[in-house]
Amino acid sequence: MIEFQDVSKIYHGKDSETVALKNVHLTIHDGEIYGVIGYSGAGKSTLIRMVNALETPSSGKVIVNGSDWSTCNKKQLRHFKKKIGMVFQHFNLLESKTVFANVAIPLILDGWSKDAIKKRVTELLDFVGLTDKVERYPNELSGGEKQRVGIARAIALNPEILLCDEATSALDPKTTEQILALLKRINQEYQITMLVITHEMGVIQKICQKVAVMEKGKIIEEGSVFDVFVHP
Ligand code: ADP
Ligand code: ADP
Repeated sequence: MIEFQDVSKIYHGKDSETVALKNVHLTIHDGEIYGVIGYSGAGKSTLIRMVNALETPSSGKVIVNGSDWSTCNKKQLRHFKKKIGMVFQHFNLLESKTVFANVAIPLILDGWSKDAIKKRVTELLDFVGLTDKVERYPNELSGGEKQRVGIARAIALNPEILLCDEATSALDPKTTEQILALLKRINQEYQITMLVITHEMGVIQKICQKVAVMEKGKIIEEGSVFDVFVHP
């Protein structure tokens, strides 16, 4: 479960302040695909980055699976971070490394043996349908294939939570459909809780059960996708 309890975030600039989040309350239950939609600048990235401690709240608490990370030491934080995967808009692949090596990164950082890494990466590439691209480099892949690599890397350590930050925003509509289908399959097969942020209504309608609508750092609506968008 992911809980935001009265979370605010203020970025302090040289001579200005930006309120990125204002008194946000949110509860995301295990196994849900939870969408957050809003225009650019609404605070979505700030919100999602707090779940894996890439940002810290200025006030309020973010509780992930019962733990408040602001009170954790470095070792505990590393342990918890392993349980969270992240998928990015621009894929964040290492261009100088092959598909295999990109997917292997979290396993190497986690200290897996060479044989175990080979087995796991093979299994992951099979799952995302990229077995024939194992020795390719990112610049030899289409956008959809790059995102499949990003997704394989993100789920390599069997996370409990998958964060998707505009995961389909750089893709064409047909590829978007395929990537959304893959995310849905991951949610169903592995019961991974997903937090999906997007500015596209279609993404919310295709895969999310619950949605929060953000505007200027605040959640202005929240509920089931049906209640918020279909039958308000
Ligand atoms: P979204 O993801 O919805 O586009 P963000 O969370 O990226 O929104 O941004 C929310 C607000 O916070 C914006 O006004 C943005 O300019 C500001 N902001 C985001 N990150 C920073 C930062 N590191 N420093 C200063 N302001 C920031
Ligand atoms: P940072 O300096 O931001 O901590 P890392 O060493 O964590 O970078 O990241 C190394 C590579 O692993 C990057 O390509 C990054 O995109 C990727 N990465 C980081 N965290 C994760 C994660 N939880 N799951 C999958 N890949 C990750």
